[in-house]
Amino acid sequence: MFGGSRIAGPGAGSRGWAWLPDRILSRVNSNVPAHAAASPPGTHPSTCPLCGLEGGREILAGTDHRRGTPGAFRVIECPSCRLARTDPWPDDPGAWYPDEYPQHGGSESLTARASRGALQRASRPGAGRLGRLLGRAVPEADTGGSLAPASRILDVGAGTGGAVAAFRAAGHDAWGVEPSLRAVLVAEARGTTGVVPGALDDALGGGLIPSGDYDLIRMSQVLEHVPDPVALLRTLRRIISPTGRLVVGVPNLDSLARRMTGGAWDGLEFPRHLVHYTRDSLLWVLALGGFAVTSMRTAPLLGVLPGSIDARTAGGDHQRGWSDALVVRVAMYPVEWTLGALGQGDGLVAIAEPAGN
Ligand SMILES: [Zn+2]
Repeated sequence: MFGGSRIAGPGAGSRGWAWLPDRILSRVNSNVPAHAAASPPGTHPSTCPLCGLEGGREILAGTDHRRGTPGAFRVIECPSCRLARTDPWPDDPGAWYPDEYPQHGGSESLTARASRGALQRASRPGAGRLGRLLGRAVPEADTGGSLAPASRILDVGAGTGGAVAAFRAAGHDAWGVEPSLRAVLVAEARGTTGVVPGALDDALGGGLIPSGDYDLIRMSQVLEHVPDPVALLRTLRRIISPTGRLVVGVPNLDSLARRMTGGAWDGLEFPRHLVHYTRDSLLWVLALGGFAVTSMRTAPLLGVLPGSIDARTAGGDHQRGWSDALVVRVAMYPVEWTLGALGQGDGLVAIAEPAGN
């Protein structure tokens, strides 16, 4: 998501996206703070992203045990709609993304490569049962059903473009939007085309991606980072095909690991996760955004279970780091997968279609 280097303006000698209009460049740059120069960003009391209400019940408290952002954070449940949010709320959410944020990184991890391969196979027209099985095994490969040849696809929060590359390799008309310019430049360097930097509205307004008729919109581990999820969903509702589908993956605030490890749960990702979803609140937010959920399940989130245990046993405010070892993450994946199959997984995957057709 957010973070990374600033773009030079047109004519400044930068490559790639320097030809973007000034209006869009300035918006991209406003999402991309210069971390080295920035003083610590301020925060303010949160209000419910749905109701605008202040206050509510504190249900969890913790710190940024992954990246050490200063300060203590809480999860507040809105007294009206019960949506859970992070408090305090950052003045500038983009400022909390370190340059080394892995989703924006330069080298593709083994697990990311495996996910990309699974998605490429699962999204091939005619993948059928194999596609469904891959989607069950690896949530990042879930396309919510079969895809016709040359489907138009949008990946919102595309990161370094792994999913867009997989869809394109499977013959689809795939596009991605990603606020971090650094991530987009990594995608470009890998030869992945179709990933546009900046905000979705600007990509649409500037004609940088097709303006509508998307058969599939994918949003994996993104909606929890977004300050106004309903506004984003309403934009997606406007551009999705009447027969299209939306696949959304978010962390599951009701997971077994969350209940066991409390404020040390990795899925909280304070303060970069602004909204924390349960089945009920995800359903409700999607409905307000104009989508009807056709299926929802819990799913594994690679590394969240060992990461949570690591933080919990280290006292809650940091991790010792053993949980980042690939061998640990891979070894614990079957446990995470089993919890997902039992309805206790650390992720939620919702498949939805535009409502009111
Ligand atoms: Zn509310």
